[in-house]
Amino acid sequence: MNLQKNAKSTKKYITGQPLTEVPQPVIRFDGRARRIRKPSRPTQNQWIHGLWAIGIYGLLLFWFVLADTQVCPCLTSSAWGAELQDVCLKNSPAQPGQGEAMLLTVTSKSNVTPTSLVFQGKTLSFQPCPPEIEHSADGSSCHFTLISIPMDITPGSHNMAIDISRAGHMERLTVPLQIVSKQYPEEHLTVEPKMVEFPPEILRRIKEEQAALITSMNGETNRMYWTPWFVWPVPEEIKSPFGLKRFFNGQPRAPHAGIDLKGGIGDPVRAANNGRIVFLRDCYLSGNTMVIDHGCGLYSIYCHLSKTYVGLEEEVKKNQLIGEVGKTGRATGPHLHWGISLHGIRIDPQSLMRLLGETKSPPPNP
Ligand SMILES: [Zn+2]
Repeated sequence: MNLQKNAKSTKKYITGQPLTEVPQPVIRFDGRARRIRKPSRPTQNQWIHGLWAIGIYGLLLFWFVLADTQVCPCLTSSAWGAELQDVCLKNSPAQPGQGEAMLLTVTSKSNVTPTSLVFQGKTLSFQPCPPEIEHSADGSSCHFTLISIPMDITPGSHNMAIDISRAGHMERLTVPLQIVSKQYPEEHLTVEPKMVEFPPEILRRIKEEQAALITSMNGETNRMYWTPWFVWPVPEEIKSPFGLKRFFNGQPRAPHAGIDLKGGIGDPVRAANNGRIVFLRDCYLSGNTMVIDHGCGLYSIYCHLSKTYVGLEEEVKKNQLIGEVGKTGRATGPHLHWGISLHGIRIDPQSLMRLLGETKSPPPNP
């Protein structure tokens, strides 16, 4: 490599002779000379281009920040107000329908803890979020609650009141929730008169059984037995959906309070999640009926079973074999009637499974 300065130009500069142009040092590199440019002042155009670049990069940065915060609707939703700036509320689905379950999470980087939520006269508690529901990478606290939307609620805006503790001080946030209308079709069935018109002693039995069933599902234990995710008790094949407005021999009856899942006599029925058996009885209408308390106001109901394998008060594990499909009670054929009660309100089991359900079918027979 041949590298040397041009000695002649350097000498002229040192002697102070007047120069119209100060020669630049020349570097020889492998025999080829190149003039080194002195850094020049930016021209007006360069200033303008620079300002444009700063502006564009600034906009990109702002967009990235905004895109990130859109995960948290409270920061962009004017409806939920400025008071929620340090509390992020997320609800799924964003606009629940009549007869559905809704998951609400409350996250905050500040010292904010939700203590309770009041909706439709019911006071609900919050639980810490399992990582499957909300994984906090930035140290935010997360609490959640499940809300049941009654089938007969008027569609439109309804307020939720959320009590929070902010650094030890209690505050109440009032948050609007938009509920959409959901159409449930009618089903007209013709059955033998004895199936819909009962003698007084049978009617008394039916009413007593229904009252006992409702009582068994009214508790709001603070213990959460269930863990993400819920599993289908039998493979997900819907024979009859939730909410059907049923007419027996032309007479209106209560809407279908669960879903009928296809199954043959003897097919295994599994616990949808961990819990405790709080109701186990041979009922006139629903046949062999079982209720599992999953904790925090969430229950699952299994009807028309041909066999049961667990006892009252027994704790069960998710996927545990608890019974077999049958057609006991008032059933036109073998199937599993599966219901979900959330805070004393029957909701569509499919809406719970959309929120917290495992998509895969139950494991094969043991
Ligand atoms: Zn049913």
